[in-house]
Amino acid sequence: MKKLALILILFFAIYSSQSQQKSNYTIVIHGGAGTILKKNMTDEKEAAYKAKLNEALHVGDSILKNGGICLDAVEQVIHVLENSPLFNAGKGAVFTHDGHNELDASIMNGSDLNAGAVAGVRDIRNPISAARKVMEKSAHVMLSAKGASQFAKEQGLDIVDPSYFYTEKRWQSLKKLQDKKRKATQNDKHGTVGCVVLDNYGNLAAGTSTGGMTNKKYGRIGDSPVIGAGTYANNKTCAVSCTGHGEYFIRLAVAHDISAQMEYLNQDVKTSCQSEIDKLSELNGTGGVIAVDKKGNIAMEFNTAGMYRGYIKSNGKKYIGIYSDK
Ligand code: ASP
Repeated sequence: MKKLALILILFFAIYSSQSQQKSNYTIVIHGGAGTILKKNMTDEKEAAYKAKLNEALHVGDSILKNGGICLDAVEQVIHVLENSPLFNAGKGAVFTHDGHNELDASIMNGSDLNAGAVAGVRDIRNPISAARKVMEKSAHVMLSAKGASQFAKEQGLDIVDPSYFYTEKRWQSLKKLQDKKRKATQNDKHGTVGCVVLDNYGNLAAGTSTGGMTNKKYGRIGDSPVIGAGTYANNKTCAVSCTGHGEYFIRLAVAHDISAQMEYLNQDVKTSCQSEIDKLSELNGTGGVIAVDKKGNIAMEFNTAGMYRGYIKSNGKKYIGIYSDK
């Protein structure tokens, strides 16, 4: 009897140490970069942002802790941010010049380089889910406008009346810009949300979702739904999500360039992200990037005053930040 108990204890000890060893995941998020200064922030507002970032991280954490895959974590984490009016994505999306909300999103799977994106959609509650459906259920990578909405409807996604995206704060930002009561600032361009994940199976994924830029015209599309610009993931290197002035991110192919630097120059993730931000600064572009590599190393680099950001790791390490630490 004693022998049996000993064997059982030994078995459970080995089993639990193995399952602990297996747990090696990392989630990194951003909620946009811009002129985010402590002096312009109330304690209440700061607490609200931090609470939402924390909630998003914990949604992802519980998915991965229970053996979920990176794509599920990316999608569900971004849902939390899309459903909050605090961020320029989903519910908090900014207005176009014509007074609409036109949303962009993309997702990429690092294990097979599969990707999906939607651009300029007006009635899909969670554009990141539409991007994932495009990746998994269509023969395409990017769908836009009405076609994307029709596809999302056919896939059974939540379609809302466009008025769902109305928030007074974003409406007033548009009005102020159009009345030329003030010049456009970085904050009119920024505020996107993104998530990059390394899961327990060694797979990487990245996702980005945005309302784009306040007062955008003519069906303008930024970098967020463009694979290689705003989003990229490759198991060989890293997963990246960007936020900032999209035109510059498209021109530099920022997300892919970070992965390429790692692959071709054998450079670490932080160095590659920082060198990409330097390239952005040289062009006078503004914004930030988050990335995680296949070992769980993290980078959160930006050239703006602040970037809403955070990470959580399977060993319990967690960080949430807003302003520059430099
Ligand atoms: N990159 C987004 C765009 O240009 C905006 C942002 O990140 O805030 O559409």
